[in-house]
Amino acid sequence: MAGPKSRKLFARARKVIPGGVNSPVRAFRAVGGTPPFLASGKGARVTDVDGRSYVDYVGSWGSLIVGHAHPAVLRAVRRAAARGTSFGAPTEGEVVLAERVCEALPSVQKVRFVSSGTEATMSALRLARAATGRKLILKFDGCYHGHADTLLVGAGSGVATLGIPGSPGVPEEFARLTIQAPYNDVDAVESAFRRHRGQIACVIVEPVAGNMGCVPPEPGFLQAIVELCRKHGAASVFDEVMTGCRVARGGAQERYELEPDLTCLGKVVGGGLPLAAYGGRGDIMRRVAPLGPVYQAGTLSGNPLAVSAGLATLEHLTPPVYDLLEALGARLEAGLDRALLETETVGTVQRVGSMLTLFFRPGRVRSYADAGESNRERFAAFHAGLLSRGVYWPPSQFEAAFVSAAHTEADIDATIAAAKLALAG
Ligand code: PMP
Repeated sequence: MAGPKSRKLFARARKVIPGGVNSPVRAFRAVGGTPPFLASGKGARVTDVDGRSYVDYVGSWGSLIVGHAHPAVLRAVRRAAARGTSFGAPTEGEVVLAERVCEALPSVQKVRFVSSGTEATMSALRLARAATGRKLILKFDGCYHGHADTLLVGAGSGVATLGIPGSPGVPEEFARLTIQAPYNDVDAVESAFRRHRGQIACVIVEPVAGNMGCVPPEPGFLQAIVELCRKHGAASVFDEVMTGCRVARGGAQERYELEPDLTCLGKVVGGGLPLAAYGGRGDIMRRVAPLGPVYQAGTLSGNPLAVSAGLATLEHLTPPVYDLLEALGARLEAGLDRALLETETVGTVQRVGSMLTLFFRPGRVRSYADAGESNRERFAAFHAGLLSRGVYWPPSQFEAAFVSAAHTEADIDATIAAAKLALAG
């Protein structure tokens, strides 16, 4: 139960903001509550307006891989702010960040910065359609790629959390341009290419799904996507908004050794400020204006504050930091597995690096249909149990939890102890 100040703020918020929040999952609807209003964050912890402190596993939905208010990030942002907050003109920082991105992801020869993951995927799709002269896109059930019209079909994240099948306001004609396939189902992708021969512009995928909870790709799934796209003249688009610079510096494509045609980035690359990106093969990216005719622009694109936060974050992300994230993630996974066993709770923990989900159902979750079989009441009770014990867990069964480099083994162990009590309770 949120504290009195949070409840008061939520009541005020609901009068002037739809549902009281600026992004739906924040409303805590799936966990039956009022969200704590956060006042500050430091390292792995956040504090709400009632003065309650929590170990945070949301981390601004995966953006804060080095933790809240990291001193180097703050220093970089302060310095950048002192030089001016926005110019709408080229700056040196953008060049350096673009160079870093191209170094980290060999499949990205050119990259364009935007302000949100939604913009990144929307622009990548426009580009894929322009490059192929085709209209259809293929996406996977339970993957979320932002809220652009053609992507709000069978989407994960808040759409899944609220149980919305599509979205009113998306014309049927647009929705019809999106073909859906189950995640991890290569046969479904093959048959879509057969059924819609010569019409599919691109296949967009979360290379590790995070928006139906954490669902890893099965061996061969991503490779099949890249190869089928190549064979059929479509573009493969890896939406690495969540996985980019998280599951490895070069994202899931580094981890699984693949080179998609286009990649979308967000979250970590902006170090907790509004920045995202799309990039890829030089011959495709050359079609973007002003080099080519595919239009895409942004007043605050490549914003110097966001660029400085992204650069400072990437600077910190050395190989030992990824080892630490892996070790902390593994410790949390093992502890949650133990807690499930000891409390005789039916559940499955799935993890890739520092992304993790505890699904309240038996057996592996391979797809959105599997994830949907989870016991959501059980999840809600678990979430409330954690929150009351000082753990801020993502407020939906269909979201991944994120470990940051600021978490300590003691944080993880305290979380496991809290989880055990929450499961037993
Ligand atoms: N793609 C993926 C994989 C995401 O996880 C998200 C956001 N959670 C988006 C796109 C959309 O990004 P944004 O919220 O910045 O628009």
